[in-house]
Amino acid sequence: MIRQMADRFLAGESLRSITAWLNRSGIPPLRAGSGTSGLWHSYTVRSVLSSARISGQRAYAPDTRADPAGGREILGPGDWEPIITPEETAQIRAILADPTRRRTTPARPTLLGGIARCGKCGAGLTIAGKLSPTGNTQRYTCQKDPSRPERGGLSINAAHLDDYITERVLHRLTRPRPSSDKESTSALLGRVVEINTRLGQLEQDRAERFITSSEHRVARLVAEDALRETERQLVATEDAVALYAAPIGNREALKDWWHALDVTDRRAVITTLITRLRIAPGKPGRSFDPTRVLITYRP
Ligand SMILES: [Zn+2]
Repeated sequence: MIRQMADRFLAGESLRSITAWLNRSGIPPLRAGSGTSGLWHSYTVRSVLSSARISGQRAYAPDTRADPAGGREILGPGDWEPIITPEETAQIRAILADPTRRRTTPARPTLLGGIARCGKCGAGLTIAGKLSPTGNTQRYTCQKDPSRPERGGLSINAAHLDDYITERVLHRLTRPRPSSDKESTSALLGRVVEINTRLGQLEQDRAERFITSSEHRVARLVAEDALRETERQLVATEDAVALYAAPIGNREALKDWWHALDVTDRRAVITTLITRLRIAPGKPGRSFDPTRVLITYRP
């Protein structure tokens, strides 16, 4: 969810628009205190986005209640798993400090920047290289960092990785994995597929006159109620708001749906389905090696 907040902000969304999105999604606010009435406010969003903690860094925490406008001073790396990269935190803070910056340097989000991580050091990969006419030379790269000698040296072809992950995500939405946990994302996705199949079957049954029009109408209402209820549960599951009304189970419709999404929404879909994406070190050579891509799916 923090990943999605950062993505939306870096893609140019305002604090107000992100706040509205969070409240629509029903995700309870972080740092909920008394008097917040369970709703997000712009200042909560701002405080989460500027937090050093979300990029795995420790911050100076003086004994004051309010965060300073630019966020607390960053002391150095922490020992917890970062959600966004330190570069992204720096970018977010720069925009918060000077909103006009965004207009002069529009953030161009990549499909997997910060989501794909280095299999050696765990750093979020960022895109490097120019976009050539074939679009094939950009690479997701572990950036060198003088203060962290373990960083750098790993990279993977960006276009190929984008295509590969897109294919995995669409496959997963077409055929969700069976799950014994009824509340899990996979189980809920499987349920949506079942209901959509049932709705298709009802149309066929009516066309072939196996059922009457009024039987069809009643059965359809029941199925549509169940669909809405399942989608509501899916959205209530943390992060799954990105899948609301997606044509789950229908490969062709999913392809069109995916093409219509912007990069920010595609990233939200990816982080809904994939909890961890690591790129293992590669052997020298030019061709794309999918065995380097280590995907952990949400249960
Ligand atoms: Zn690395």
